[in-house]
Amino acid sequence: MTTKNETSGIEKLMQLPSLGQKKAQLVFDIFDITSLSELDLACRQKRLGSLEGFSDQLQDKLIEEISEIKKREAINLISDATHEGNLLLSYIKNIKSVKKADIVGQLRRKAEVINYLSIIVNTADIDSLKNEIEKYPNFENFVSSNDTQIEITLKNEIHCSIASVSEQDYVYKMFISTGSNEYIESLKKVALNKGFSFKNEGLYQGDKKVTLSSEEDIYKALGLNYIFPERREIFEINTGVQPPLLVKEKIKGIFHCHTQFSDGVNTLEEMVSAAQALGLEYIGISEHSASSEKLSNGLKKSRVLEQFKIIEVLQKKYKIKIFKGIESDILIDGKLDYDDSILKKFDFVIGSVHAQFDLDKNTMTKRVQKALNNPYLDILGHPTGRMMPHMPAYKIDLNLIVTEAAKLGVVVELNAAPKRLDLDWRVLPLIKMLNSKVSINPDAHSVAALEDYEWGIHIANKASLEEKHIVNMLPANLVLKTFKRHQA
Ligand SMILES: [Zn+2]
Ligand SMILES: [Zn+2]
Repeated sequence: MTTKNETSGIEKLMQLPSLGQKKAQLVFDIFDITSLSELDLACRQKRLGSLEGFSDQLQDKLIEEISEIKKREAINLISDATHEGNLLLSYIKNIKSVKKADIVGQLRRKAEVINYLSIIVNTADIDSLKNEIEKYPNFENFVSSNDTQIEITLKNEIHCSIASVSEQDYVYKMFISTGSNEYIESLKKVALNKGFSFKNEGLYQGDKKVTLSSEEDIYKALGLNYIFPERREIFEINTGVQPPLLVKEKIKGIFHCHTQFSDGVNTLEEMVSAAQALGLEYIGISEHSASSEKLSNGLKKSRVLEQFKIIEVLQKKYKIKIFKGIESDILIDGKLDYDDSILKKFDFVIGSVHAQFDLDKNTMTKRVQKALNNPYLDILGHPTGRMMPHMPAYKIDLNLIVTEAAKLGVVVELNAAPKRLDLDWRVLPLIKMLNSKVSINPDAHSVAALEDYEWGIHIANKASLEEKHIVNMLPANLVLKTFKRHQA
């Protein structure tokens, strides 16, 4: 008996080109199969052969088609993957036969999206590990398993691989399985030039296996500075002496918060009070602007002035500094929403593209460039508009925009909402090179999302940004001075 939503289960099955509606209904009626994972297992075991029309070839074809769909679907936001990963890791650590276990792979590197969770385990008994994994509340099914590796799918379709490694090889396997593949490949070349080789069994100097007690030993052996897992994506981006990782406690305040005034779920006072409870020195409120009135309840001029008054009242009640801002739409012609007489009243203005995304690269770049030149634009919001997992960035010459922003004194947002993480970390080396600044903003639409700035910290760490690059690591009395409008 299945407790899943049967209709949506059958709909999923019907996505398979070789199955279709009739056959999907048949496997549901006869075998009670309602998920792709269940169908996959049945096909692998060739259990459907008793049904008319289900040849071995068809079942093989279905396995292929399921794997294609799963590949497309297996994109998890870092927030979801972190939550699931931590739950599963602590479950595994509590299994009696397990001596130690760690998260590796994309999640350890804090990648912007996670395709699958990878965990390594040192256990005395892989069979008992397998039995216990099957009892994990979120367990859905085994994809495959052998003496050293268990591949499972969790109930929310997150894929997970659990590798059993010996105590002796633990450090080495941890390093290799943290990746990225591209990074390891580059490091292999460096190692080779110094007489070392990365083999399946371990790190070798000539014929001699190097004893490793920590990952630092690998770098030490190669004469390199230790690189944090977050920074192991593209070898060339992070080399040499490494600044320490930024930590979320360094964030002094946040910009880019929405309330019930526009499309947030909490009241202004709830957001202010929650930000104060987090220990922040300041919160910048920035609702949607008038041209987004239909789309996201953007504020007409009168409502902006109304909010100012409420902020002034709240400011008397709360210690946290409340900055008056707006997320003004960058209109199709590059102008900012509202006229200057309003724009100049704010403590800060974020400018964002929220509509007409499908412009060609040149037109979009010109549109945003024009906005950057507006004297009242302080922060460029989510500069590419991407929404993970499925909505790609709009076409824009991002390097040019980031360079121009630096020249004009516009702060670029590192939007830390887990579905955005925009700027992408691949652009951050340019921020470093220009010695310009980003603001790590949660784009919070609820109290719960205020702390989303944490995800932005990980992204900043991936390119070794430092405190000096993050405007909101400045205290309340200094932060506004980094904005264009307060510099003249
Ligand atoms: Zn926005
Ligand atoms: Zn926003």
